[in-house]
Amino acid sequence: MARTVHIIGAGLAGLAAAVRLAPPGVSVVVHEATAHPGGRCRSFYDRAIGMTIDNGNHLVLSGNRAVREFAQAIGSAAALVGPDSADFPFVDLSSGERWTLRINDGLPWWILDRSRRVPGTRVGEYLRAGRLLRAADGATVGDVLDCSGPLYTRLLRPLLVAALNVEPPEGAASLAAAIVRETLGKGGAACRPLIARDGLSHAFIEPALTHLRERGVDIRLEHELHAIEFEGVRAARLDFGTDAVELAPDDAVIVAVPTHAAAALLPDVSTPQGYRAIANVHFRIAPPPGTPPMQGVIGGTTEWIFAFEGRLSVTISNADRLMTVSRDTLARTVWAEVASAVGSTAELPPWQVVRERRATFVATPEQNARRPGARTQWSNLFLAGDWTATGLPATLEGAARSGQRAAELVMAEASTRSAA
Ligand SMILES: Cc1cc2nc3c(=O)[nH]c(=O)nc-3n(C[C@H](O)[C@H](O)[C@H](O)COP(=O)(O)OP(=O)(O)OC[C@H]3O[C@@H](n4cnc5c(N)ncnc54)[C@H](O)[C@@H]3O)c2cc1C
Repeated sequence: MARTVHIIGAGLAGLAAAVRLAPPGVSVVVHEATAHPGGRCRSFYDRAIGMTIDNGNHLVLSGNRAVREFAQAIGSAAALVGPDSADFPFVDLSSGERWTLRINDGLPWWILDRSRRVPGTRVGEYLRAGRLLRAADGATVGDVLDCSGPLYTRLLRPLLVAALNVEPPEGAASLAAAIVRETLGKGGAACRPLIARDGLSHAFIEPALTHLRERGVDIRLEHELHAIEFEGVRAARLDFGTDAVELAPDDAVIVAVPTHAAAALLPDVSTPQGYRAIANVHFRIAPPPGTPPMQGVIGGTTEWIFAFEGRLSVTISNADRLMTVSRDTLARTVWAEVASAVGSTAELPPWQVVRERRATFVATPEQNARRPGARTQWSNLFLAGDWTATGLPATLEGAARSGQRAAELVMAEASTRSAA
């Protein structure tokens, strides 16, 4: 077993790695650059609307096994809430039509049932969409799917733009296929939406920190790694600027920082380049009675509306085009759509716009091909993060899996060494 494992970055990937390693026998130190762990999955108090909000609404699906395992391990599974069935209400703002996609458990007979599938679609279109699952490596979604018509605009685009955070025609078909395989392909039991009702930090970050500290994990905040020094095939020294850690022969390092930070620390490692933004607009207003916890919106800027206690909150993916729109214009445009979708006559409530410029790597085939695996050319240094080669787009599930995988490799490497 490695003597000390240093985990760089306390986002979900780093925390998932620490949780997997934490049980007795391993000494773990987590080094986080900022004062606030959680990375791209965190909550904060916002003075403009006077409440705690998340940096972005995060949707987890019941089929996200690594996230659920992580939540189970840190004792916070109950913080993820959602309906008992995989029902997704939608509204089309241009036609006023409303429908609920109702995905049954088991074999997908919902496709055969007009009252469950998307209005205006035919069974044959769903079968043709199955081509996505057989797409060649390097293909885009646009290469294999007809990106027009009701099935695309009313189901596939909303699902895929949210998962890939790029416009689906340019997105990597292999990543889109992985999402479809792990969600729609497994039936309703894998598609139930789960939301961190009381915030991401409450569900994932605070309980993880408590869990880790109780197990003796040392969590060092505002401790940014500046450089890694190597000796032959191993990392030998971690340079934090104000202090440094000399690595003992059996110590290991898991680098779980975002892609741009990994590229700076490890210039020899291939990393995806560039990011796409996600915008969230939060409104301080009680959702009208009957507002679903989550609603898809077609035909506007708004893509998904989430209803929380005292707040309605909107997510817009692939949002680079909105980075230059004034915050006020964006809030007003989105509120007009939200009011129409939830049936509210209220004037613009107190609002906040949160635009995460570096939300995810660009999920095109070219950038997907640049994602490295968890192993590196150095025997004691492993990679984790949603941008590593998880086979999934940049999601909490990908981040959690990558952290768990890196932890398993550290443990496997240690036991190989002790057997030798
Ligand atoms: C607005 C938004 C909405 C999203 N919606 C969803 C969703 O609905 N569903 C979903 O599954 N996913 C969603 N995601 C994606 C999800 O948040 C990410 O995939 C996940 O949080 C990435 O975790 P990570 O640990 O890989 O990286 P990060 O969260 O980026 O964590 C990396 C950590 O490393 C730290 N760090 C960086 N450099 C250093 C250094 N040199 N030394 C020490 N520490 C360092 C950072 O401060 C950070 O805390 C969304 C993301 C955003 C931004």
